[in-house]
Amino acid sequence: MNDVTGNSFVSAEWYVEECACPMCGRAESEATRYEQIPFKIKRCSSCALWFLSPRLAEEDAQQFYHSDAYFAGGHGESGYEDYSVQERSLRATFRKFLKTIDAKAATGGAFLEVGCGPGYLLDEANSYFESLAGVELSDKAAKQAASLTGARIYNDIEEIDDVPAFDCIVATHVIEHIYEPVAFVETLARRLKPGGSIILAAPHMGSLYRRIMGRRWPSFKYPEHVSFFDQKTLPDLFRRAGLEVTGNVPYPHVFPLSLVLSKFGIKGPLWTDGVDVTLPATTISFQAKKRVNI
Ligand SMILES: [Zn+2]
Repeated sequence: MNDVTGNSFVSAEWYVEECACPMCGRAESEATRYEQIPFKIKRCSSCALWFLSPRLAEEDAQQFYHSDAYFAGGHGESGYEDYSVQERSLRATFRKFLKTIDAKAATGGAFLEVGCGPGYLLDEANSYFESLAGVELSDKAAKQAASLTGARIYNDIEEIDDVPAFDCIVATHVIEHIYEPVAFVETLARRLKPGGSIILAAPHMGSLYRRIMGRRWPSFKYPEHVSFFDQKTLPDLFRRAGLEVTGNVPYPHVFPLSLVLSKFGIKGPLWTDGVDVTLPATTISFQAKKRVNI
């Protein structure tokens, strides 16, 4: 009903709000480039962050992240409905990602994943860390993650004591959903031991895919994605939260061939479900460290 976005969870009772840049707070923006009524994607004239305005009021956005229905659309932005195919490609993606993190000396010790969904990354991370913990808003996904990994899964980051406890904190495909990204990274940083790493991964707004696909770029996910980061704004976010950026982290993303074809409007034969392809640079990822002397 009154489904203006094609997403069934947006209804007439929910409100949209205009907002200033969620990263630097400035109100001035460049001319709107992308739009899906009533939502618009703007680019901040000051810090160059792309962001959604108007966007859903935050309380309304929170409602669907807490709902089990959110995961019916698939964790990890895949939008894929066959869970076994989705699990296979996500695990393959996370194995590659963890190898890269390991090469950047960010493994070992206590690990926290924020937005862990059903726990595939946590499960793959088991051999790289001494202890695992997760944060997941959806009760159903949190229970799945706990039973899959045996890790303690919190419903909210605020449930974790505000003290440095973790050597590595990872959040993949979370930051683009966050209404106050600087405060969020500061919240993570307070749980990080001095010298520890935070790694964030998000859809790459500066990617060739966005430039080629334009408004059909799959990561323009209205109304859930409220910020869109690139090679300038993701490191900038870390710096604003007081962290030291140590570099980018390659994030090759594995997708079923059938899903890639569907994004170009092609329905592949059944065998294309069983074939994985790796796309470089659909996702941007950076690592930052907490300084030892603070
Ligand atoms: Zn800004």
